[in-house]
This record gives sequence, structure tokens and C-alpha cells, in this order.
Amino acid sequence: MNKRPFFQQPCRLCGRHEGWDGLCDGCRAMLPTLHGPLCPVCAEPQPHALPPGVVCGRCQRRLPAFDALFAPYRYDYPLAELLHHYKYGKALGDGALLASLLAGFAHHKQGSADLVVPVPLAKERLAERGFNQCDALALALADIMKSVFSPKLCWRKRNTPAQARLDLTARRRNLDDAFGVESRLDGLCVAIVDDVASSGSTLSALAFSLKKQGAKRVEAWALARAVSPKT
Ligand SMILES: [Zn+2]
Ligand SMILES: [Zn+2]
Repeated sequence: MNKRPFFQQPCRLCGRHEGWDGLCDGCRAMLPTLHGPLCPVCAEPQPHALPPGVVCGRCQRRLPAFDALFAPYRYDYPLAELLHHYKYGKALGDGALLASLLAGFAHHKQGSADLVVPVPLAKERLAERGFNQCDALALALADIMKSVFSPKLCWRKRNTPAQARLDLTARRRNLDDAFGVESRLDGLCVAIVDDVASSGSTLSALAFSLKKQGAKRVEAWALARAVSPKT
């Protein structure tokens, strides 16, 4: 990345060293990168490289509504701590750091989209937290992609019960029709942005609603992807 809007500052993880954007080189090297081989749709790590055009077993059973998911990191230590701190501690400085991590990855990936949409929070949750943690990430992505940041395009229709407490079938039912989309999107490519992609069902539900409005392609971007434990 050529843009360096920040000065050297104390590392937010170790506090001992200084670094650009608030992360020292040592801590940056400890971030849990999501590396391949990955499923070309959902980015789940695979034991072996999949042949071209082949998707993972889970995507074969049920293909998500988004076309591809991109995430630079696994949801793991120490990134999980940074994300948690940002989300619940309202440390907005962490938002700038996390946004710069996603922007660096998108720059490298040469991603492009017409619109960039943060996954909307329910009204109640937004009031409780005071901000949508996805906004800073989506704004940085839109900046890198030179596309339009569209925080008002979609909204969450009702406060769905916390996904984590539901089984898979209930999660899908819970998310059916969970998002509203303001306008037609015929022929457009939309990037949707979440901080953490867990089961992928929220991102898939939002992608489904966008495609219903005519979006040609929907890419899901997340800073971190939860990786299922191998059994
Ligand atoms: Zn450090
Ligand atoms: Zn997959």
C-alpha cells in the first residue's frame, strides 16, 4: 500500500514496540493468516487443493448466495482479541487498524465492485453499541476498490435472535427475508462486508436479498473467517 495516513504509534497488541497503523512488525507477523488451499466459494481451508471448478463438500450440499468469500485472517488469537476490543470496547482507533488490514488485503487481491455495503445491524443493536463495526471496514474497502460506500442501501428488518444459539436449520429460517434492500441493482457487482464470517449464513442471506434485486455478483468480504475444527 502506498497510502500511509498514520504515524508510527505504540503497538495495540504488545504495547512495547511501535509500528505503522498501531501494530509492530512482530505482532503483525503473529496475525493468523487464512492460507490455502481454500474452497473457491466459502474460503474454508481444504486438506488438498480442489480441482478447478470444484467446491468444498459443504458448498456442494448447499451453495451460499454469495459468489465468493474473501478474508485475510482466521478468527483466532490475537486478532480475535483486537476485534472483540473494537466491537465492545468502542476503541475506534482499533477500527482504523482493522480497516487498514482489510484494505491491504483487498489491494493485494485487486478486488473490485460497484457498491460496498456493510452488513447492517438491527436498529436495537445499533442503538446499544452506538456504531456498526462493519462501517469502518466497508469504507476502507470502498476506498481501495474506488467504488461507492453504501451504508444505507440495506437494512435488517427485525432483530433476529442471536445466531449462535440456533442450530443450522433454525439459523436459515431465522435469516429468511431478514434484510431489506432499498433499490434495484440490475447488473451491479456488490461487495458486502462483515467483521467476522462465522457460518457464512448472515452473508449468504444478505447476498440472497441483493441478488433478488438484480445484483449480478455478490462478493463477501470479512476481516476474519471462523474455521471449523477438523474432526
Ligand atoms: Zn506489538
Ligand atoms: Zn465451500
